[in-house]
Amino acid sequence: MLLSSQRALDVLLQLTAQLTDDRPLEEFLNAVTLATLDLLRADHASIRLLDTARTALLSGARSGTGEEDRPMDFKRGEGILGWVVEHGQPARIGDVEHDTRWIRAQGQAFHVRSIMAEPLWSSGEVIGVLAVTSPASDAFADEDQLLLRLLANCSAPPIERARLRRLAMFDDITMAFNHRYLNPRLVEEMERASRSVGDVSVLYMDLDHFKSVNDNHGHAVGDAVLRVFADRVRKAVRRVDVLVRRGGEEFVLIMPATGATQAHATGHRIQQTLHTDPFDMDGGIRIRQTVSIGVATWDKRETPDQLERRADEAMYEAKRLGRNRVVVATPKDVVG
Ligand code: GH3
Ligand code: MG
Ligand code: MG
Repeated sequence: MLLSSQRALDVLLQLTAQLTDDRPLEEFLNAVTLATLDLLRADHASIRLLDTARTALLSGARSGTGEEDRPMDFKRGEGILGWVVEHGQPARIGDVEHDTRWIRAQGQAFHVRSIMAEPLWSSGEVIGVLAVTSPASDAFADEDQLLLRLLANCSAPPIERARLRRLAMFDDITMAFNHRYLNPRLVEEMERASRSVGDVSVLYMDLDHFKSVNDNHGHAVGDAVLRVFADRVRKAVRRVDVLVRRGGEEFVLIMPATGATQAHATGHRIQQTLHTDPFDMDGGIRIRQTVSIGVATWDKRETPDQLERRADEAMYEAKRLGRNRVVVATPKDVVG
């Protein structure tokens, strides 16, 4: 089933060139599954990566038949792919029906008879698995396995680098952007707004009396409250809005193409969801968390720091007025 060696070289050269670029993780993963599908003439190629806890295998990319279907997630050690990750060893199975490790997918739209998989190694650890399948039995030969290993070996280190770059952008507890991202992202949005007629607004949010959540229920519940809060905010805002964890129990929402009235309405909507739907935590704990919000809209002159300061002052004003409210910052007088 191999391609001509010239064609195989072309595919490999193109892939290794793509992997040296500084691209987002998804693009790397897609490039790898596409090249794998092409080189091995497989029906379906997939990459699964271990999550940060190194226990669940999450789907990273898939190409070929069934690429639009909802992928299955496996735990480490579960199914053939989980076995490959757990043992750090390749697998090649000519007929999955005769393999006790095989887990039949509920409602999987594509038929699998042969499967071949290689662990992805980086810095002496397995970080995931690259696999191909075919509806035919005994579809893959010895040299196919070596080719898959070559693909896995050259892809794993750049995938891991892209994954670490990605992780550093987000805060682990809330998956909001890390505070380091706040200033550069604001600068970017201000530049965009100055080229158009649109506004940029920011919401500064500080959870009210959050210390008492930790004091009454412990730090783990505190962490879970931060996570639920971030999820609620993401659900209440547009996809283009950027949630940043500024630190502790303080968050900033950057809202592109948004004026003061709309930003105020968003702040209000966030408060409303907290009010109507308290947080139900594990162990039957119900938490009525409130938030104080300061809103500021860029005046098209001030620096990011000046904008942040106005939003911060508005947030403190919300605290001073009794918390659980939204305060819109007044524009600074324009000195001519
Ligand atoms: P206020 O309404 O005035 O904002 O009161 P507050 O209690 O929210 O504010 P304060 O600044 O006194 O306390 C913030 C608390 O947030 C204290 C700190 O222990 C807690 N905190 C900060 N970061 C984290 C975190 O990552 N996890 C947890 N569980 N708690 C955190
Ligand atoms: Mg605070
Ligand atoms: Mg607080």
